[in-house]
Amino acid sequence: MRIDLHTHTRASDGTQTAEELVRAAAEQGIDVLGVTDHDTTDAWAAAARTAEEVGITLVRGMEISTRHRGRGAHLLAYLADPTYPPLVTHLRKILDGRSSRVPAMLERLRAVGVAVDIADVRRAADGTAATGRPHVADALVALGVVPDRSTAFRRYLNPGRPAYVDRYAAPLVEMIRIVGEAGGVTVLAHPWGRHGPDCMPETAITELAGLGLAGLEVDHQDHTPADRERLRAIAQGLGLVVTGSSDHHGLGKHDHELGCNTTAPDQLERLLALAETASQLSGRSTPEVIG
Ligand code: AMP
Ligand code: ZN
Ligand code: FE
Ligand code: FE
Repeated sequence: MRIDLHTHTRASDGTQTAEELVRAAAEQGIDVLGVTDHDTTDAWAAAARTAEEVGITLVRGMEISTRHRGRGAHLLAYLADPTYPPLVTHLRKILDGRSSRVPAMLERLRAVGVAVDIADVRRAADGTAATGRPHVADALVALGVVPDRSTAFRRYLNPGRPAYVDRYAAPLVEMIRIVGEAGGVTVLAHPWGRHGPDCMPETAITELAGLGLAGLEVDHQDHTPADRERLRAIAQGLGLVVTGSSDHHGLGKHDHELGCNTTAPDQLERLLALAETASQLSGRSTPEVIG
């Protein structure tokens, strides 16, 4: 059984439609797929239709852009009621913050002699609710300024680079609570991916576990083998669910092929049992697991 619980579509910054993603997953022998776009559930309906059609199991989720201890942290939220008003409010604020800074990024690019029009970004972001740096990067690729997204981030868009502009992110602790109230479960995405262990030490993870965090995404391409072993031990010590995922973005990220990391069946079972309990306690109408 192959279980991949973290993937993106064009609804955020993947390059495949939900239908293309789910079909590709089925073709590649994935049995259980989590669709987790950044801060939006826009892909859910098409993903659900296609999952029923091709006969794979779909776990509907999202990856919420949060902040913790002054740094960005990505929070995977599974099976939450997407109409829960506090969740809706935060997601709207994140999406607004992400796209409203695009003109400022283009201004900064102009200042270093790179001319990108807002129309170029809009074209790159066609169909997404979450226009942001990846689409500015795509516009730079389309204009031939850089060969690929990663180079665009490295040269222009990462913190400390000329076109970086900060944006709103929701407080991590508050989002763990809100997702729980919405009947869902939370897994910390690539906890040591971007900044290494320093920003999310064991003490911080312990605190989050006490506040309702359900799991850690241990097996992720951004983690070294040594990181994975340490994170696995931390998760086991705290009784957290251990997940593994591709964080697939279609052609938008190299070396994140579907199924390159997977979640063990017993861990998925634990996660779904926790989601069931959260759903019942919340009294909200939460999405079913399809398939
Ligand atoms: P934003 O929300 O606009 O700040 O964009 C952040 C998103 O860009 C992240 O969630 C990633 O999916 C993507 N991203 C960040 N760094 C890179 C990179 N080096 N290459 C490709 N995509 C990246
Ligand atoms: Zn992404
Ligand atoms: Fe992420
Ligand atoms: Fe992701």
